[in-house]
Amino acid sequence: MTEPRKIKHVLGLSGGKDSAALAIYMRDTYPDLDIEYFFTDTGKELPEVYDYFNKLEAYLGKDIARLNDDKGFDYWLKQFNNFLPSAQQRWCTIQMKLKPFEEWVKPLIEDGYEIVSYVGIRADEPYRDGYVPTEKFLKVRMPFVEDGLNKQDIINILNNTGLGLPKYYEWRSRSGCTFCFYQRKIEWVKLKERHPEAFEEAKCYEKHLNENASGEKYYWLGMDTPLNTLEDPKRIEEIKRNHEKALKRFEKKRRRNALYEEELIEMVDLDAIYDEVEGGGACITCYK
Ligand code: SF4
Repeated sequence: MTEPRKIKHVLGLSGGKDSAALAIYMRDTYPDLDIEYFFTDTGKELPEVYDYFNKLEAYLGKDIARLNDDKGFDYWLKQFNNFLPSAQQRWCTIQMKLKPFEEWVKPLIEDGYEIVSYVGIRADEPYRDGYVPTEKFLKVRMPFVEDGLNKQDIINILNNTGLGLPKYYEWRSRSGCTFCFYQRKIEWVKLKERHPEAFEEAKCYEKHLNENASGEKYYWLGMDTPLNTLEDPKRIEEIKRNHEKALKRFEKKRRRNALYEEELIEMVDLDAIYDEVEGGGACITCYK
């Protein structure tokens, strides 16, 4: 008879509110479970995420392992022939988020472990494909779904610990790379205001892009739209004005709908404000 596998519990932090709340929830609800926390770091993450992790580590009483892809974004950009990653070609997530995780768990699995990975999907959202393990000894569990916790519960967990939301939620809806192509224009405008050096770096990456077979260039904002189009003060004003209008429309809609009970937090609710499914198609590994 084969020996049962040893179990290794792991929990991936993305820098987003849900995984942070899950780490706290697991520590407080299942204190006997020995969980290893990890973060797959592209080296291009928002500075606010690192600040938040320092506080979170203090609360958890444990370090968050940083899993780096040693090669980094510039190396991969060259490998992908100077085509920026995009929603259609999401090589960044695969090379710099998913593969480092697989490399991390591989020796554990070879050493006879089964990996149980805890993911911060909530009870009030549809299941996402996110990370679908192909490895037989890697199991995914969603405690918020199992225990029926929704978005307001998650906000309450973070507030009750005193940690609150990561600071970037003041101006951006998701964690991840400073130049993530899943940002909305209003977030790019805010990136320029909050982290001008990161905006400049994103612009630099647009300098040497290759054209596709049809002679088009794909920039961070999409086809033939370089980032410097967001530097015109009139354009910035227009983006801000449009955002304010969208926000007002959403507030009005909420007031008419008695079902909306949870508090409105502009950047947490940004996808809803623009009538999109939460996450906007981004991978849960990057933002959850
Ligand atoms: S945050 Fe955005 S740019 Fe960074 S790895 Fe994820 S999808 Fe790619």
